[in-house]
Amino acid sequence: MNFSKRVLSIQPSATLAINAKAQEMRAEGENVISLAVGEPDFSTPDHIVTAAKEALDKGFTRYTAVPGMPELRRAVAGYFSRTYGIECTQNEVIVSNGGKQCLYNLLQALVDPGDEVLIPGPYWVSYPDMVQLAEGAAVIVPTEPEDNFLVKKEDLEKYVTSRTRVLILNTPSNPTGCHYSQAQLEDIARWAVSRDIFVICDEVYDQLVYPPAEMSSLCSFWKKHPDGVAVVNGLSKTFSMTGWRIGYILAHEDLIKAMSKIQGQSTSNVCSFAQKGALAGLEGSFEMVETMRDSFARRRDLALEIIGSWKDAVCPRPDGAFYLFPRVDAFYNDRVDSSTELCKAVLEKEKIALVPGKAFGDDRCVRISYAVGDEVLQDCLQRLGGFLAGLR
Ligand code: PLP
Repeated sequence: MNFSKRVLSIQPSATLAINAKAQEMRAEGENVISLAVGEPDFSTPDHIVTAAKEALDKGFTRYTAVPGMPELRRAVAGYFSRTYGIECTQNEVIVSNGGKQCLYNLLQALVDPGDEVLIPGPYWVSYPDMVQLAEGAAVIVPTEPEDNFLVKKEDLEKYVTSRTRVLILNTPSNPTGCHYSQAQLEDIARWAVSRDIFVICDEVYDQLVYPPAEMSSLCSFWKKHPDGVAVVNGLSKTFSMTGWRIGYILAHEDLIKAMSKIQGQSTSNVCSFAQKGALAGLEGSFEMVETMRDSFARRRDLALEIIGSWKDAVCPRPDGAFYLFPRVDAFYNDRVDSSTELCKAVLEKEKIALVPGKAFGDDRCVRISYAVGDEVLQDCLQRLGGFLAGLR
């Protein structure tokens, strides 16, 4: 069959592939534990599930408005207002199928063929391929573990050309868990706007920031520069709703209209009854989020203590999300000489699934998700430490 250059130019999602492999091994009877998961190990809160069930029972099963039900768009505006103290209207919000479609729509609306998009690396796996699908060019700006994998405007400046159009920031980050403070975030955004570079800020883990670190967001900056910034968020990580596919964007009304056009010609609205659940989530109690935040903070500390005992691994202390991204290339040898080979060997020998850092643009590292129970996490990391020591 002949496929388009477009589809041939992109890669399947590495994180989804690893989890599929782990599931396959489990189906064959192997006791595989996945530290490759990209979703919280909590249930969606009951009141959200009930609201969706009620919507189904009442026959709320038809198309809705493409950019989302008006009451849900207002609830999203309410979330931004309560959380970040900004005023915005439903016309400045669109609801899409997960943060993923939000990012896709944004890039489709903003990027022309040949436009360059700055992406600090390590980056979330899908950014470069989404840029590619928009026929743009992803320009990776590397960062170092010693700097908590945080990019500085001076680093970005070196990669700017006359074609630079967009910068994608992500805080807290997948895969590193590292988090920009409000001042750091605004400093970079101010620089970008002054260079006429549009900033997409992916804040899907905004609720998962661990004290004493504080939440940060470009919402208030957006208010001052509404046509230079878009904020992406969603319910997947906040309420453990990854399968519901609810994401949303805060952006200039004209950009929202442009994305509605794209969404209207591709997927139309997000699932109607999932939107009812989302509404209950945003308007209801955030108690479960606090429970989840406490658990993740505890597991982060547990994990860091064990990783700290792996001689020669370098792991910044992340302030958010549920990932650790240790640098482990000091353990590479003749046979195991890359993050891909390391993850393959760990899966075969220890039956533990990790994601190779290469998938996120840093072959020196591996991504460890701590969205698993405390005991499983401790046991896996201890075994992993033993495995790494055995490589030397
Ligand atoms: N952005 C980042 C940084 C992510 O890690 C993810 C999911 O893993 C997404 C966006 C998309 O999430 P969803 O489409 O489930 O909202």
